[in-house]
Amino acid sequence: MRVITTLAELAAAREAWMGEKQSCGFVPTMGYLHAGHLSLVEQARSENEVAVVSIFVNPAQFAPSEDLSRYPRDLPHDLALLEAAGTDIVFTPAPDDIYPPDFNTYVVPSGALAERLEAAVRPGHFRGVATVVLKLFNLVQPSRAYFGQKDAQQVAVLRRMLTDLNVPVELLALPTIREADGLAMSSRNSYLGAEDRLAATALFRALQAAAASFNASADTTIASLRRTMIETVAAEPRATLDYADVCDPATFEPLAELRAPMLLAIAARVGPARLIDNVLLNRDGSWNMGRRIGGQDSTR
Ligand code: AMP
Repeated sequence: MRVITTLAELAAAREAWMGEKQSCGFVPTMGYLHAGHLSLVEQARSENEVAVVSIFVNPAQFAPSEDLSRYPRDLPHDLALLEAAGTDIVFTPAPDDIYPPDFNTYVVPSGALAERLEAAVRPGHFRGVATVVLKLFNLVQPSRAYFGQKDAQQVAVLRRMLTDLNVPVELLALPTIREADGLAMSSRNSYLGAEDRLAATALFRALQAAAASFNASADTTIASLRRTMIETVAAEPRATLDYADVCDPATFEPLAELRAPMLLAIAARVGPARLIDNVLLNRDGSWNMGRRIGGQDSTR
C-alpha cells in the first residue's frame, strides 16, 4: 500500500495505472474508518484492479458552527485498517493543496435535493460535498466510485452532478453497515457516551417500526409512516428529532402517495452527536435496511 500526500505524486501514480489500462475503484472518506467504510473498500477492490481510498476532512462541507475542529481523526489506525483491507493507494492531501488561497470555484447543486432535509439543516453542505468529490474525481480519475447508502441524500446529489456535468465515473451506492443493535456505523458515533449510545438506536428503531407498519397494514399512509417515526424518537428522551421524511430517493421530493422506490429518512440529535439514517423501499417491495455485523460495538 502506498500513502500519497501530494497532487504531483498522485498524478504520477495515476499515469502508471492508466498506462497499464487498469480500472480504478475509488472510495472517498473523511477518515476515522469503520466497517462501513471498509465494505466500500472491499467492493472497490473486488471490482477493480487498483483500489484508491482518500482520507480528507473537507472543510468546505462544514458550516462555521459545525464540528470540523473536533471531527475525529486517527490516521495510523486508518492506515492499518486500509492495509489489512488490501488498499493499493491512500491519498491524504493537505487542505491547502485542495483549497489553495485563491480557490474560488464551487459546484452548487440546486432543486429539492439541495434544499430539503440535510440541505435545509446544513446550508452549504452539499456545495462542499459536490465540489470536493468533483475535484477528487478529477485528481484520481476513477472508473468507479463507491459511496454508502447511509448518506442517501449525498448519493442522490452526486448522481445528479455526474449526470448534469457528464462526469465519466460510475457511482455505486452500497448498503448501510450497522452495529449489532442496528445503529448505523458512523465516525460521529464516537461522540456518544454510554447512555447516548443506547439512545442512538432510536433512529434505527423508528425506521424499523415504520417499515413494519407499512408491511403490516394496507391502511398505512405517508402521514402514518411519519407519525410512527416521530413517536418512536419522541419516546427516547435523549434524542431530539430534526426530521422524519418520506421522499423520492432520486429527487428527494416529498411523496404524495406510497410507492416504491421510497425513502424513509430520519435525522436526530443525541447528546453531542447529530445522526442520520434511512431505509429504502425497493421496487420489488423489499426494504433495504443494510447489514448488521458482529456482536461487538465497534465504536472506539
Ligand atoms: P465519511 O467518512 O463519513 O465521509 O464517509 C465516507 C463514505 O463511507 C461515504 O460514502 C459514506 O456514505 C460511507 N459510509 C459511512 N458510514 C457508512 C455505513 N455505516 N455503511 C456504509 N457506508 C458508510
